[in-house]
Amino acid sequence: MASTSPLVSVIVPVKNEEDAIDIFIARVGGVLDALNEPDGWEILFVDDGSTDATLAKMMLANRVDARVRGISLSRNFGKEAALTAGLDHARGQVVIPMDVDMQDPPEVVGPMLAKWREGYEVVYGVRANRASDPLPKRITADWYYRAHNWISNDKIPEHAGDFRLLDRRVVDVIKALPERNRFMKGLFAWSGFRSAAVEYERAERTVGTTKFNYWKLWTLALDGITSGSTVPLKIWSYLGGFIALLALLYASFIVIRTLIFGTDVAGYASLIVAVLFLGGLQLLSLGVLGEYVGRILVEVKQRPVYIIQQHIGE
Ligand code: UDP
Ligand code: MG
Repeated sequence: MASTSPLVSVIVPVKNEEDAIDIFIARVGGVLDALNEPDGWEILFVDDGSTDATLAKMMLANRVDARVRGISLSRNFGKEAALTAGLDHARGQVVIPMDVDMQDPPEVVGPMLAKWREGYEVVYGVRANRASDPLPKRITADWYYRAHNWISNDKIPEHAGDFRLLDRRVVDVIKALPERNRFMKGLFAWSGFRSAAVEYERAERTVGTTKFNYWKLWTLALDGITSGSTVPLKIWSYLGGFIALLALLYASFIVIRTLIFGTDVAGYASLIVAVLFLGGLQLLSLGVLGEYVGRILVEVKQRPVYIIQQHIGE
């Protein structure tokens, strides 16, 4: 089996990236060829519901070089689902997810393979800096990693994207996971195994535009936290208990004061503050419940994570 499967599978989710495909194959193919690995390599594109000529470019590329294969999804399922499809269909002894926009430098694959041969099953790329990102994205990313790791059980390495080398054993573990919510970084972290880091500089996007606006990133962040942690569900009982305790203390204070000094009608301000504060907390905790219940619904429906419309290449 090992002799028929390529050493490296590079899996590449693509959505409307017609201009990036050829550049990617030229650069990454060149680097992989230069590694001179006897078992060779494959590049597996996952067309995530592109509406431009991305699919046509993939087919063309496969005719030029059979090591370039592709899967086309029936619609846009999102990057995490596309990565799942890629992992499911990669044949390599190691799998490396990469963005098509050349932000993940393929030159790092060599050092990653070296670490893998030292015995690490996961070699993740860590961004030396985030200079290629705009400041607000840098700041929010920083907060996110901290918040996530503070409350989640699956600690994700800070500033490590999806760009990483995964040993076949790790890939098989992730493939076997039944869950629909595919927050890849969290799943990679959860799977464990020996891991090492390789630093790299993340380049600017070569062509095309980013497919992630802040709303999509926020949704991704919520997926990450709700799939890795139940802390947001639990803090409400503690906070509620604490507030109830305060209310009890305040109530006894009022009773004692009334007993000593008699009644008065003051206290409208404190009353309305308490009511609004508690009302807000209740809505917030309901919202958190909603986030989790919604995800439970998605899981119990047991729908497939993605649907394949077409395979390109053998
Ligand atoms: N992508 C995808 N499906 C989506 C959004 C993005 O397959 O719904 C792909 C995209 O084509 C690219 C990779 O995911 O190869 C990373 O996207 P992008 O470069 O836009 O993200 P950024 O680097 O800005 O975070
Ligand atoms: Mg990018």
